[in-house]
Amino acid sequence: MAKKGWSVPATEALKADGLRIADLDTSGTPGFKGDKSAGQELLAERTEVLSALQERLYANGRSGDLRSVLLVLQGMDTAGKGGIVRHVIGSVDPQGVDHAAFGVPTEEEKRHHYLWRIRKALPRGGQLGVFDRSHYEDVLVVRVHNLVPKEEWEPRYDEINAFEKELVDEGTTVVKVAMFVSLDEQKRRLLERLERPDKYWKFNPADIDERGYWPDYQEAYQAMLERTSTKSAPWHVIPADRKWYSRLAITELLIDALEKLDLEWPPAKFDVDEQKKRLLEA
Ligand code: ADP
Repeated sequence: MAKKGWSVPATEALKADGLRIADLDTSGTPGFKGDKSAGQELLAERTEVLSALQERLYANGRSGDLRSVLLVLQGMDTAGKGGIVRHVIGSVDPQGVDHAAFGVPTEEEKRHHYLWRIRKALPRGGQLGVFDRSHYEDVLVVRVHNLVPKEEWEPRYDEINAFEKELVDEGTTVVKVAMFVSLDEQKRRLLERLERPDKYWKFNPADIDERGYWPDYQEAYQAMLERTSTKSAPWHVIPADRKWYSRLAITELLIDALEKLDLEWPPAKFDVDEQKKRLLEA
């Protein structure tokens, strides 16, 4: 059944299958009927639901359940990955979050297989993991800038699929989201970073150079979606020009993933009445 405000559930409306990024309306709000204020109102409600479900996941983890959820965030600069971490992930109990951001590999990381740093950062049982950029950089920036020859990046798609399948089989639900803004919206957001002293820290002059590679990135993202959207770990495509929409959409995807785990509160490992009695007598 469609949720309030959603004419089609987010999991359906955001499916990557068959989608051409070139045709994507990045200012769209697929599946959602309502304006910004309706979206924000619903987001406030759904954030509570997400937070309650995450607490259950954490509680089960503390009781030995090894299952976890991993949110993989990909997107061009300014697409809003940081905003998702801050506003969506930031709404749940930080004790239950395993966060990792992946930048240019360090010297040590370069000496290892590209999945080495990824494996080290996987969420522990009961945790909500979030990857701000991920192993997908190894078929995105690496492909666009020829950081390794094609013979080396080409087999990575299959390798990543196998890696994620293993992860899912071991109990991690992988929620992959690719966030897309338009070239104009990116310019607007970069300009804002140059106009506001509280945003200078987010600005990187190299981001302007990367704009020159936009078509190459579009192609690399398209290949990523086509080759790594699997049954075990499908991609979701998020139009991200409207921040309220991307936050709401990703909140819904996380709620869906957590609901599918069918989490109950872990039962007491002690006799409740007996402990109550002891406490009252103490
Ligand atoms: P952000 O730009 O997300 O705020 P950083 O300033 O740490 O974060 O930079 C991330 C940069 O690291 C991006 O330009 C990204 O393309 C690059 N990067 C991430 N992973 C890799 C990789 N495996 N190889 C090369 N560059 C990478």
